[in-house]
Amino acid sequence: MADDVFSDFESWGFETRAIHAGQPHDPVSGAVVVPISPATTFAQQEVGVHRGYEYSRTGNPTRSALQACLSSLEGAAHGLAFASGMAAEDTLLRTLLPGDHVILGNDAYGGTYRLVSAVVAPVGVTWTAVDLTDVDALASAMTPSTRMVWAETPTNPLLTVIDIDAVAEVTHASGALLVVDNTFATPYLQQPLSLGADVVVHSTTKYCGGHSDVVGGFLALDDDELAAKLEYLQNAVGAVGSPFDNFLTTRGLKTLPVRMDRHCDNAAAVVELLIDHPRVAEVLWPGLPTHPGHDVAARQMSGFGGMVSLRLSGGRDAAMRFAASTKVFTLAESLGAVESLIEHPGAMTHASAAGSPLEVPEDLVRLSVGLESKVDLIDDLSLALDQL
Ligand SMILES: *Cc1c(COP(=O)(O)O)cnc(C)c1O
Repeated sequence: MADDVFSDFESWGFETRAIHAGQPHDPVSGAVVVPISPATTFAQQEVGVHRGYEYSRTGNPTRSALQACLSSLEGAAHGLAFASGMAAEDTLLRTLLPGDHVILGNDAYGGTYRLVSAVVAPVGVTWTAVDLTDVDALASAMTPSTRMVWAETPTNPLLTVIDIDAVAEVTHASGALLVVDNTFATPYLQQPLSLGADVVVHSTTKYCGGHSDVVGGFLALDDDELAAKLEYLQNAVGAVGSPFDNFLTTRGLKTLPVRMDRHCDNAAAVVELLIDHPRVAEVLWPGLPTHPGHDVAARQMSGFGGMVSLRLSGGRDAAMRFAASTKVFTLAESLGAVESLIEHPGAMTHASAAGSPLEVPEDLVRLSVGLESKVDLIDDLSLALDQL
């Protein structure tokens, strides 16, 4: 593959771009993997004349590769990588000014809720939590100061599906921006910009990195003016990941398509077990025809994902015991990696939302279905359920 074809990567298929976009062979050695560039500073030929890099917070070649690759996968003109999903979210929220208003989905990630309610709100930004499956409720919650509607789909941890196209229409009618957290679906299953979103947010810590070994975040968008503002903030605030972090995330993206196919498959097998089990009161997975968001998910996603939540008939106590009794599923926070994880959102990831409009049910258990053998996953869950 000649190096010059790399400038033309937008014509390639998703899987090819996941491996090659933004990653020309190293011009010095021919290395097929983008080098980790730890340099903090870059030589200038004359004052202000350089090869595109001055200082590593401002720009770094390893980060550039990740930004080019993931923005290409999202079909975005611009991409910015950060040290964590929260750092990406914080940088985006810094475009707001006192008096501005944000609408947050009422089932947002606990950390997003905490950032908006406890960090951004005290500085003078107001917010409202709204059920974004109800576009009339959204329309009536919009105020003349609403600048942003912040949606996740599918949501964490209730796996509610939001109709991006319908929410975009209401959001844009008031001149606000639609932000979609695409962490659960990934660009392989869903591309929010093509459905009307303005900014895509990722915790790349999850499926994009995919191996539970790197924390990172990402913003993808088309608008040149907003991108320039965010690039300014990325440098001015400086919440950027290390070159090694960026390398790991870029490596993770190469296998995103094959991993997501298997995550979806294994999740479907797990759901089949859960749906018939007497100890399980409800299974939440957009692939189930009985899921209220199934039709929207089938339209806007190319697969139903690897996250499955369930409610146990024995309430909080059964949920806590179940979460602590599996062996292949590790009891841990986080999601989206090769190993299967189980957690109790009410007491773990979403504990900060207790007592708020975003509180999650106490009998809820969340599974991140990994890439182990299907038989082992099913045996593990059924043994733990049978012992309840
Ligand atoms: C984990 C997560 C975040 C936060 O990302 P970090 O990388 O942990 O900072 C944001 N949104 C969703 C949906 C998440 O799952």
